[in-house]
Amino acid sequence: MRTGDAYIKTLNDGRTVLIDGERVDNVAEHPAFRNVIGTIAELYDIAADSANGMQYHSEEINGTANRVFSIPRTPEQLKLRRQAVERWAKHTHGWVGRSPDHVGTFFAAFGAHPEVFEDSERDFSGNIRRYYERILAESLYVSYAIIPPQVSRATTASGWEGDFLQVGVVKETEEGLIVRGSQMLATGGAIADEVFVTCIKPLGPDDVDFAISFALPSATEGLKFLCRRPFAPAATSEFDYPLTSHYDEPDALVIFEDVLVPWDRVFINRNVDTLRRQFFETGAHALGNWQAQTRFTTKLQFIAAVARKVTQVNGTDKIPGVQEKLGELAALVSSVESALLAAEYTAEADSAGMLVPGKRALYGAMGLQSETYPRVMAILRDLVGGGVLQLPSSVVDMKSPITAPDVERYIASPGVPSEERIKLFRLAWDIIGSEFAGRHQQYELFYAGAPFVVKGVYTYRNYGYDAQVAELDQFLAGYGVDGRKEDN
Ligand SMILES: Cc1cc2nc3c(=O)[nH]c(=O)nc-3n(C[C@H](O)[C@H](O)[C@H](O)COP(=O)(O)OP(=O)(O)OC[C@H]3O[C@@H](n4cnc5c(N)ncnc54)[C@H](O)[C@@H]3O)c2cc1C
Repeated sequence: MRTGDAYIKTLNDGRTVLIDGERVDNVAEHPAFRNVIGTIAELYDIAADSANGMQYHSEEINGTANRVFSIPRTPEQLKLRRQAVERWAKHTHGWVGRSPDHVGTFFAAFGAHPEVFEDSERDFSGNIRRYYERILAESLYVSYAIIPPQVSRATTASGWEGDFLQVGVVKETEEGLIVRGSQMLATGGAIADEVFVTCIKPLGPDDVDFAISFALPSATEGLKFLCRRPFAPAATSEFDYPLTSHYDEPDALVIFEDVLVPWDRVFINRNVDTLRRQFFETGAHALGNWQAQTRFTTKLQFIAAVARKVTQVNGTDKIPGVQEKLGELAALVSSVESALLAAEYTAEADSAGMLVPGKRALYGAMGLQSETYPRVMAILRDLVGGGVLQLPSSVVDMKSPITAPDVERYIASPGVPSEERIKLFRLAWDIIGSEFAGRHQQYELFYAGAPFVVKGVYTYRNYGYDAQVAELDQFLAGYGVDGRKEDN
């Protein structure tokens, strides 16, 4: 099984990662990436140690693979899969959103449903199957860019001024497709092995050139990752920024300068209908987002623990009003955890025998995520008060003979030494106030789609209103102005 060291060794492959106007030589050594790369390497080492229970025998490759990439076919396999995802999530306390299990989970569902990728002109089902087998065999870390760039949301790509702003097919050759344009927003793209590119937003018939799906190595010629401003280099130390320093995943706009996508890496070519079906008929959207909710639950549990500890340190935890806030926090966290488990409990086998987590519970939790996360942040903000700003400028103040005595005397709590108190409140600031924190708020609101899509499409459509309205109609039909009808 792949180790962390083996992963790191592959990264110096000439990929084009752009940051601050320059091309990065080797991401593994760059201050923007090296620590989060170290975190991903730790995940690989955890999986490589059979004592951690993440390994299983995969029928698809007739060999050992990581359970986070498995196709769950029995309730027990689904549970073990969730536990494997949890094992990784707990290592980062839920702060790494696009660890290799995220996109890998989408491919597990694609791999279970190669028939969706059959095409009358060219059959891509073998490609998807083989690609999934590579993920299993090589523990591939795949990122994805599946959203059109934010040029204008008033129309789709065919209506934009300027050709190929969204990645699309310029021409077909014997070797494959030549693609040009861009796609947002590959989290982890700069440090992953490969990038999966497609479009989940609905496209119209005029957008057919953009209706594509493929995967390429991150080091492909003409493929560029234009990274957002990294936060890790600004982290003065691990003590000052415990989350930023290790979990700052790069997000990148992916740009294609007439890139060749060899035929064996194409999964969909100019097919608007299959583009949608790949996510929703394979069960990939549900299984992938269930992975995300497992990670989200772990993160919320971690944040709740920080909030609880802050109230202990501040001595506010005996106050009924504070307990009420901690109670609300507990309710929010346990409702997400409950939905995760309910989705597991209500999972149903699809036509390929793959267990798809129950959509009502899953999309119910996702529909509230844009309220849940800001509310959790608001409660933590409320409980920490100004304690997150009554902190020294950095660890240097804690060591300097000029500042250390004042820090030790004034920034402490009864029974809680200065260093312990500062450590906790620094962590709280990295959760609510740093640039990393701001990015995470945006991430939790948008990673599964804008809230209007999550609520208005996924949650609304998967609730099962029809059956409930039918029951309501039956109830309404049971009485009239003269009271209860006898035949009911
Ligand atoms: C930190 C972060 C990491 C991400 N990582 C990834 C990744 O790894 N891979 C990937 O592919 N994508 C990623 N994304 C992109 C994410 O999938 C998109 O942000 C998401 O799909 C929403 O699209 P958008 O940002 O273009 O928002 P838009 O669709 O432009 O929506 C923005 C806002 O505009 C309004 N709006 C727009 N259109 C409508 C409408 N029709 N009706 C009502 N209101 C509307 C709403 O208020 C909405 O909330 C990431 C995003 C963030 C923030």
